[in-house]
Amino acid sequence: MTLVETDEQRSLRTAVAALAARYGHAYFAAAARDGRTTDELWSEAGKLGYLGVNLPEEYGGGGGGITELAIVLEELGAAGCPLLLLVVSPAICGTVIARFGTDGQKRRWLPGLAAGTLRMAFGITEPDAGSNSHRLTTTARRDGDDWILTGRKVFISGVDIADATLVVGRTEDARTGRLKPCLFIVERDTPGFVRRPIPMELAAPEKQFELVLDDVRLPASALVGDEDAGLQQLFAGLNPERIMTAAFAIGMARYALARAVDYAKVRQVWDEPIGAHQAVAHPLARAHIETELARLMMYKAAYLYDTGDDAAAGEAANMAKYAAAEAAVRTVDQAVHTLGGNGLTKEFGLAALITAARVARVAPVSREMILNYVSHRTLGLPKSY
Ligand SMILES: Cc1cc2nc3c(=O)[nH]c(=O)nc-3n(C[C@H](O)[C@H](O)[C@H](O)COP(=O)(O)OP(=O)(O)OC[C@H]3O[C@@H](n4cnc5c(N)ncnc54)[C@H](O)[C@@H]3O)c2cc1C
Repeated sequence: MTLVETDEQRSLRTAVAALAARYGHAYFAAAARDGRTTDELWSEAGKLGYLGVNLPEEYGGGGGGITELAIVLEELGAAGCPLLLLVVSPAICGTVIARFGTDGQKRRWLPGLAAGTLRMAFGITEPDAGSNSHRLTTTARRDGDDWILTGRKVFISGVDIADATLVVGRTEDARTGRLKPCLFIVERDTPGFVRRPIPMELAAPEKQFELVLDDVRLPASALVGDEDAGLQQLFAGLNPERIMTAAFAIGMARYALARAVDYAKVRQVWDEPIGAHQAVAHPLARAHIETELARLMMYKAAYLYDTGDDAAAGEAANMAKYAAAEAAVRTVDQAVHTLGGNGLTKEFGLAALITAARVARVAPVSREMILNYVSHRTLGLPKSY
């Protein structure tokens, strides 16, 4: 693994940063405040090939990996406009379909996901399962060639703007015990597929939904890949999800830190700018170090994933997500504090990031579940649950 980016990766980073700078945080914050989408930015990024950098070239993608997609999301976030659906649409859904989908599914979905003209949400979380996905109860039963899907999901992002949702369920004969998942593509207007927005204290253009699947009839072609290989397919999507959540958090931390540093250089209430006081400067320096360390772990995880080492990528992706979320929460907190009262004003727009940064701590897998994973899997400690 090299720590130096290739020329292509560097140019991708520069180009995405230039696009994001044209939109900027004011555009993103106004969309969130006014209940609008960020479709202009999404479709421009799609046309430029940024949304599908990780998808296969034969389906219109860039032929790169999660490393490249993480660069895209990090740079969008560093400019104050992180597109949350990048974590879901090309990273989870695009990856799973590219690796395990049927030819028909690849032809139907991948070109659109790569171009940004189609979007796909991802639904695994359930009200009574939460962090314990072995408790998922969304159930698929066969009816002739069709599937009938029944269950409930919560906190599913972007269902209203997604053309379909990749829903994680289990088949009727695997209803209890350890999770044996199967994945279904449920198109937005399928009868019986009902969504209700969940009011969130989040200043973000993407909304979260509760989903009710009430005897939703799906054709055989809605099942992704093989019903017996569901766990492997699911993990093929969950590792990119964790890596991309790390990119989301790191972009946000970079954005907040840059605003705080700009402010600390010019704000003067004694003889020197406040940034000259070590009580102001050191926490910002520490935030930068923690963010850079998390970034290293994110690129290690992305490298392992892109080189096909799914097992090692699992541990690294969890640790990267943990480190990035913690760095983002602390950096945003320190940035808000650096601006004093202005940190809490709408004009400076930093306080809204306090809630946004917490998303990375709890989703897609919470801080404690990662600590559990490292305790049991890495350190071999006994399990209490
Ligand atoms: C903004 C947002 C967007 C989201 N988008 C999506 C999406 O698109 N698709 C999707 O499927 N999901 C999505 N989620 C859901 C998210 O993945 C879950 O919220 C997360 O997995 C935690 O599940 P939970 O909320 O049920 O918490 P719970 O599982 O109820 O956990 C509550 C608390 O208990 C702790 N806890 C639980 N079990 C243990 C244990 N064994 N040891 C120690 N601590 C424990 C947790 O760490 C947490 O702090 C989103 C969530 C948010 C907030």
